Amino acid sequence: MSQSPSPLLSILQNRFGFASFRETQESVCQAVTDGRDVLLVMPTGAGKSICYQVPGIARGGATLVISPLLALIEDQVGKLQKLGFRAERIHSGCQREDSRRVCRQYLSGELDFLFIAPERLGVPGFPEMLKRRPPTLIAIDEAHCISQWGHDFRPDYRLLGERLALLRPIPVVALTATATPIVQEDICKQLGLVDEKRMIQGFRRTNIGIHAVELPPSDRSEAILEILKKPERLPAIIYAPTRKKAEELKDALSATHAVGAYHAGMTPDAREKVQSRFLEGKLKVIVATVAFGMGIDKADIRTVVHAAIPGSVEGYYQEIGRAGRDGLPSQAILFHSYADLKTHEFFLEMNYPEIAHLRMIFKETKPSPSAPQAKDALRKKLGTLDLATFERALEQLWVHRGVLIDPDENISRGDPKWEKAYLSQRDQKQKQLQQISALIASSKCRMIGLISHFGDRKDTGTSCGICDICRPDPAGRRALSPAERDLAARILASLEGQNHQAAGRLFQSIALPGENIERSRFEKMIAVLERAKWIDSQLESFEKDDQKIQYRRLSLNPKQSKKSAQDLASLETHQSPVSAKAPKRKRQKKKPSVSADYETNSEMPRGFETLREWRLEQARRKGVPAFRILTDRALLAICESKPSSPDELSGISGMNRKSITEYGQEIIQILSSKL
Ligand code: ADP
Ligand code: MG
Repeated sequence: MSQSPSPLLSILQNRFGFASFRETQESVCQAVTDGRDVLLVMPTGAGKSICYQVPGIARGGATLVISPLLALIEDQVGKLQKLGFRAERIHSGCQREDSRRVCRQYLSGELDFLFIAPERLGVPGFPEMLKRRPPTLIAIDEAHCISQWGHDFRPDYRLLGERLALLRPIPVVALTATATPIVQEDICKQLGLVDEKRMIQGFRRTNIGIHAVELPPSDRSEAILEILKKPERLPAIIYAPTRKKAEELKDALSATHAVGAYHAGMTPDAREKVQSRFLEGKLKVIVATVAFGMGIDKADIRTVVHAAIPGSVEGYYQEIGRAGRDGLPSQAILFHSYADLKTHEFFLEMNYPEIAHLRMIFKETKPSPSAPQAKDALRKKLGTLDLATFERALEQLWVHRGVLIDPDENISRGDPKWEKAYLSQRDQKQKQLQQISALIASSKCRMIGLISHFGDRKDTGTSCGICDICRPDPAGRRALSPAERDLAARILASLEGQNHQAAGRLFQSIALPGENIERSRFEKMIAVLERAKWIDSQLESFEKDDQKIQYRRLSLNPKQSKKSAQDLASLETHQSPVSAKAPKRKRQKKKPSVSADYETNSEMPRGFETLREWRLEQARRKGVPAFRILTDRALLAICESKPSSPDELSGISGMNRKSITEYGQEIIQILSSKL
C-alpha cells in the first residue's frame, strides 16, 4: 500500500487539480498553514497564489485577500469559482446589492475567499464587519505596492498596516514578485509582521539569454528590425520608453511584421484588442510601454527587447521575465547608451523639482487658523516660477503632505515634516537609475547581477553561460580603428578649443571639407569617450515656437588630463551582436506643443475657463483637489490641440487611459459646444 499524501498535498491534488507542488511551494504552504506570518518573494509565474490558497483551505474559515487591481481580483475570483470554491469580492466596480449579499455570505461563514481592494478597509465600518467573524488568514498580493521604495507604490496600500491592526493576530502572508532587500524590510515593518518567515527564492531563469547592446538611439529601430528578421525570435515584445516612441517603432516595423502598439494613451478598447490579438498569435510583435504586461499569460514569447534603458532593475526583471515561460531558449536584448541615462535624469529633475521650489511654495502658505489661499493667488506671489514647475512642485508638496488642497484648489499649510519624505523619495528614484546603470556597466554575469539584486541567497551563484558577459560575441571588445581614433582625437581637440558645445553643433563642425561623417559613427565615438569618462554630457532644453527642444551639451571631464596618442590607443569599443546599418533619416512631423507655458495674467485660450469650471465640479464631487482630476497644463494642451474625439486626447500629456475613459466624452462635448 502506498503512503497516503500529506494533507496539504491532497488539498492541492483533490481541490486544485495539480499533481504536485512546485519546488518551494510546499514549505511555504506549511509555514502559512501553521499560522506563521510569511513574506514570500517569488518571480511572476512561479505560483504564489497556491501559497495562500492551499493554506486558506487547510486552515478552514475564510481567507481575506487584498489585491490592488480590479482586473486581478476578477481573474482570481473567476478561477477559484471554476474550481468549485466559494470565492467572492467587494470593490468599487460591484453593484451595491451584490456587495451586501457578499457581506451576508461572509458573515454567515459561506465563503472560502473574500477578495477586496485595499481602499475597502478604509470604508467606515468595513473592518468592524470583518471583525464580527474574523478571517483565518489574510493574504496581501502584490505587497510591494505598500512600500514607497517599491516600483509601483500605491498610496492606498500605505495605511494597510494600521487598518489591519484591528484584525491581528490573524496570520498574514504578504506576496510579491519584485521586492529588493530594502522593500522586503519595509513591507514587513509597515504591515507589522511578527517573527515572520521570509522566503525569497526562484529568481534564476535558466532559459533567458540577456544581451546588453550599446547603440545610439537613432540606430535602434534598424537594429530591432534586424533582430526580428529571424522567425525563431518571434513572438516578441518591444518595450519602448515613451508612447511616441512606441508608435514610431510600430510604424517602422509594420511593413514587415504583424505588429501592434500598446500604451496608456490608447482607449481601453483599442488596448484590449491589441492585447488579445497578440495573445492569440495574430500579432507577432507588440511594441509597448511599461503599461503592458501585468497578468499577461503567454508562454511562447521568444524575445523581449528594451529599446531604451528602463527605469529600474525591478521593472526590467519583471519585463524580461515574460519571455520563455514555456522553458524554451529565449532572449532579452537591452539597448543602451549614455544618452538614455541622461534622458532619465532629465525627466527625474522635471518630475521631482528642486526642493528649493517646494520650499518657496511652502513658505507662502499659511498655517491652519488663517484662511486658505486660492491657488492662482499663491502662484502670483511666486511670479518667478513657471507654471509647469509650480504645478509639479505643488503636486509633490501635496503628495508629501506639505500642503492641504481642497477641491476648489484653496491651499493651506500641511505637515512641516514633508521635506524628509520628499528627499528620500527623490533619492530613491536616483538610486534606481544608478542600480540599472551599474547592472549594465557591470562585467559580471547578467543573471547573477539580477539575482543578487533581489537578495535570493538560496541561489547556486553559477554563471548563466548564455548572456553577453558569459558568452561574449567572438569579436568582443576591440581597440579603435585608426579612423575611429582620428575621429575621437578631433572630438577632443574641438572641445579643448571650445568646451561645453552642443552635440549637434560639434558634429556639424567636425567634418573636413568634402568629408561625410555618419552621425551614428560620431555618436558611437561620443559613447566610447563618455564610457571612458573622458567627456561628459548634459541634457538641456530650450523653448522654440512653443516646443520644448532637447539637446545634449558635451564637455571635457575636468578631472582628466589632456590625452595623448597613447591614451587614445588604449580606448576600446565593442562589436555589437546586431549589425546596424545607417538608419534612413526621416524628418519628424511637428506635433502641436503640449508644454505651453502660459503666465497667469496672459490671455487664456478659449474653452479653458469652461473646462476649469467643469473640473471644479468633478473635484468637488470626488472630494479631491482639482489638479488630481486634470492639471492646468493638461487643460491648456487640450484647448490648444482642439481634439474632436476622445481618441485624439490620447496624444496629450497629462491625459491617460483612465482620464480619457472617465472624462473624454464630456471634454469633447464641452469643447464642441463652447468653441
Ligand atoms: P504568480 O502569482 O507567482 O505570478 P500564479 O499563482 O498566478 O503565479 O501561478 C502561475 C501559473 O502557475 C498558473 O497558471 C498556475 O495555475 C500555475 N501553477 C501554480 N502552481 C502549480 C503547480 N503546483 N503545478 C502546476 N501548475 C501550477
Ligand atoms: Mg500573482
